[in-house]
Amino acid sequence: MNNCIFCKIAKREIPATLVFQNEDVVAFSDISPQAPVHVLVVPTQHIPSLLDKAASEPVLLNKVFTAIQKIAENEKLEEGFRVVINCGENGGQTVGHLHFHVLGKRRMVWPPG
Ligand code: 5GP
Ligand code: ZN
Repeated sequence: MNNCIFCKIAKREIPATLVFQNEDVVAFSDISPQAPVHVLVVPTQHIPSLLDKAASEPVLLNKVFTAIQKIAENEKLEEGFRVVINCGENGGQTVGHLHFHVLGKRRMVWPPG
């Protein structure tokens, strides 16, 4: 947990381009964007992945999705966007702190890679 890069961003110990912040959730631009808008929405609480019990806690999810709605409005994503959670090795998770990718301003394809 001490070495977690997203905990450090949430505590403002390392820089990031913040687009939203409150006590429970921080959101910032991905360092390697996969779309013109690529925001990571991160609970400030350290939750390693979607497999953790804390990840399905309704109060937390309400806060995360309320933040996503605000970000979608601020970033003018009314034409559509995608929210992605990568979980574990097969899911492509590379940072061990639960986060929601918000991708927008381009046409997404399906199935995903
Ligand atoms: P994952 O692959 O775990 O679903 O997503 C991790 C994301 O975090 C990747 O899209 C990666 O580009 C992004 N990322 C990794 N390190 C940093 C960082 O230090 N700052 C920011 N802003 N994004 C990061
Ligand atoms: Zn963390």
